[in-house]
Amino acid sequence: MLTINQDRFLADLRELARIGATAAGGLSRPALTVHDIEARQWYRGKIAGAGLDYALDGAGNQSAILWGDPPGDKRILAGSHLDSVPNGGRYDGALGLLVAFEALRTLKDHDIRPPLTLEALNFTDEEGAIMGLMGSRALAGQLAAADLERTKIAPRELTARLDALGISRESMLAARRDDILAWVELHIEQGARLEDGNIDIGVVDAIVGIRSLKLTLSGEAAHAGTKPMKQRRDALWGAAQFVLRARKHVMDNYSPGVCNIGMIDAKPGAFNIVPAQVDLALEFRHGSSEEMDAMGDDLLGLLEECAREFDLRASFAETPAVHPARMSETVMAAIERAAAALGLSHRRMLSFAGHDTQSLAQVCPAAMFFVPSARGISHNPKEFTSDADCVNGANLMLHTLLELIEVFA
Ligand SMILES: [Zn+2]
Repeated sequence: MLTINQDRFLADLRELARIGATAAGGLSRPALTVHDIEARQWYRGKIAGAGLDYALDGAGNQSAILWGDPPGDKRILAGSHLDSVPNGGRYDGALGLLVAFEALRTLKDHDIRPPLTLEALNFTDEEGAIMGLMGSRALAGQLAAADLERTKIAPRELTARLDALGISRESMLAARRDDILAWVELHIEQGARLEDGNIDIGVVDAIVGIRSLKLTLSGEAAHAGTKPMKQRRDALWGAAQFVLRARKHVMDNYSPGVCNIGMIDAKPGAFNIVPAQVDLALEFRHGSSEEMDAMGDDLLGLLEECAREFDLRASFAETPAVHPARMSETVMAAIERAAAALGLSHRRMLSFAGHDTQSLAQVCPAAMFFVPSARGISHNPKEFTSDADCVNGANLMLHTLLELIEVFA
């Protein structure tokens, strides 16, 4: 059975981890900063060294290209991202890009020219130093001019960084591609489900949607000593009731969905005043749109109940939601066939974090798979995936691509 060059692949993984390395053992490569640029140059050099073609699109996404025979218009893409969060780990993104690159390099080594062209892609700014999923959103045609005015860095700074790559806002907005037959991404799990279950591979069946609501309960301020307890309209009592009932309701009815109340603000906020108003920051996530809708209805219904119980008024305001991204059954099946052929154990699971794959899912059959993260640690210098798991991931990427070629050629 065809396998990747393990020594070369692991040596590259270590070499890449030196770019932006931190004393704590992790790395810092926020998008389009000096270390990200260095990693991008490193990748370009590796592509040339492998004898593969190189391409840079209008969004700064870098591709290694293995031309198909014949070199038709439609392609199969794989990859991830070389940028990191500040003080992040060595595996998030970097491993996913390297396994795709190594798969192409292995085919090239063996003089295999598949009937479809393959690309190994490094997406610009997955982690959000500028906006998050920037390169993949541009490629999927999901980027609007208004998005480029709401970046986390100042407009002049953005211009300078794009200039340095030889791209612009205009080229980013025109970066949509229509030549993608399928997409597959490897990522570290960033959770401990695989490790806990002693499973090699997680086949992601959906990337969760996220809804964020600011909930408000309004009662009446009163003297904390003289107002009889029975007559109080204490907004914090209602909020407290809601917090624990929401937890129980989601656990009992919406597993594996999750909810979080991450902020609580009681006003006016004094020892001796009964709280007149409480704001809660509620976020919830699920892999299914139907379940997300039902969760939203239930949680708002619960808020109403808690308000009634303590004679309060309930209201809410919602920020734009991220919709769940269902993965392609065709691509998941290809991953599973390849895993079975390699003798790797696998199970399906949700991704609770966002990934470039959710952009790709808007324009082509797309899926992704996880390799284990030791103790589930991620976005942290202690992020770790064993060499054996990295090699498993690379071989699985190689054989998934071969399976996809069979399906789409
Ligand atoms: Zn990532």
